[in-house]
Amino acid sequence: MMSRRTSIPLRIGKVTVGGGAPIAVQSMTKTDTRNTKTTINQIKELEECGCEIVRMAVPDKEAAEAIPTIKRQISLPLIADIHFDYRLALAALQAGIDGLRLNPGNMGDRKQIAQVVKAAKEREAPIRIGMNAGSLPATFKPQFPMAERMVDMAMEQVKFMESLDFNLIKVSVKAFDVLTTVQAYKMIADKTPYPLHLGITEAGLPRAGAIRSAIGIGILLYQGIGDTIRVSLSAHPCEEVFAAYEILKTLGLRQRGATLVSCPSCGRAEIDVVRLAQEVDKYLEKVAKPIKVAVMGCVVNGPGEAKDADVGIACGKGKGAIFKKGKVIGTVTEEKLLETLITEINSL
Ligand code: SF4
Repeated sequence: MMSRRTSIPLRIGKVTVGGGAPIAVQSMTKTDTRNTKTTINQIKELEECGCEIVRMAVPDKEAAEAIPTIKRQISLPLIADIHFDYRLALAALQAGIDGLRLNPGNMGDRKQIAQVVKAAKEREAPIRIGMNAGSLPATFKPQFPMAERMVDMAMEQVKFMESLDFNLIKVSVKAFDVLTTVQAYKMIADKTPYPLHLGITEAGLPRAGAIRSAIGIGILLYQGIGDTIRVSLSAHPCEEVFAAYEILKTLGLRQRGATLVSCPSCGRAEIDVVRLAQEVDKYLEKVAKPIKVAVMGCVVNGPGEAKDADVGIACGKGKGAIFKKGKVIGTVTEEKLLETLITEINSL
């Protein structure tokens, strides 16, 4: 069991982040916030796929004005993502937002930040100091490495907020470069007790982006660092939530949804294992129970893995043995494998 860095717990709506609470999974809407109907629909989809905190861009006054309508129809804690204009942060707070993300790289005016902090304090709304390598001003300590620059800028903002007697703080120091991100989080984890929001920013399409995110976020979580995670992918936000839970499940930190064990197939396979695994995977998207399902191509590792799963198939020529909780419960023909497996999954 890995030990976790101790952080100050923070309430974001109904969710606790940090202080030993389960690592919360976040995502962000990809709709035009001003279009409340599509934004609400996407937030509902996110809730269904397991997202626990949702953030949305608030790029203008109209988007801030959409907050009360959106809030009324959702139950996830809602965070406003604010860049450049502190007045949008004030408007979002006024509109009842549960938390803010401010980027110190593009919002550094102390008088303005002080106004936002005052309003956030009155409403007990937390603020994430969300540093991104891409928006770090080129003039800020250019002689230092990127990780150090991000940490220094984020820490300046932390100290300033603390000087205003505000401690509802969460911090992130994200970069696209995984090693820079890991280095930055390791540094800031030692400098501040606030919860850390982890992510690899602009990670790309799911195929490579999920791997980059898993490596970066995984290294940090394994070292006990991180209280909430967001996987940033150029895809539907539920893909981000799926990847986030896979990371947490792999490290034994959370349990949610089914886990598919499937063999890669090889010259010994006697049915189309890859296609069958894809079909099972598609079905498992709808399963929220934390179960393990195995799809194995032959008798080499098949029975062993299938036995170990809650439900499994070990295939033979044109047929497959169905396993449930370690025991063979029958043999069915290739055409009936998917259907039988689904029936057994549903009966668990
Ligand atoms: Fe090949 Fe059988 Fe192993 Fe699948 S379980 S990879 S078919 S040897």
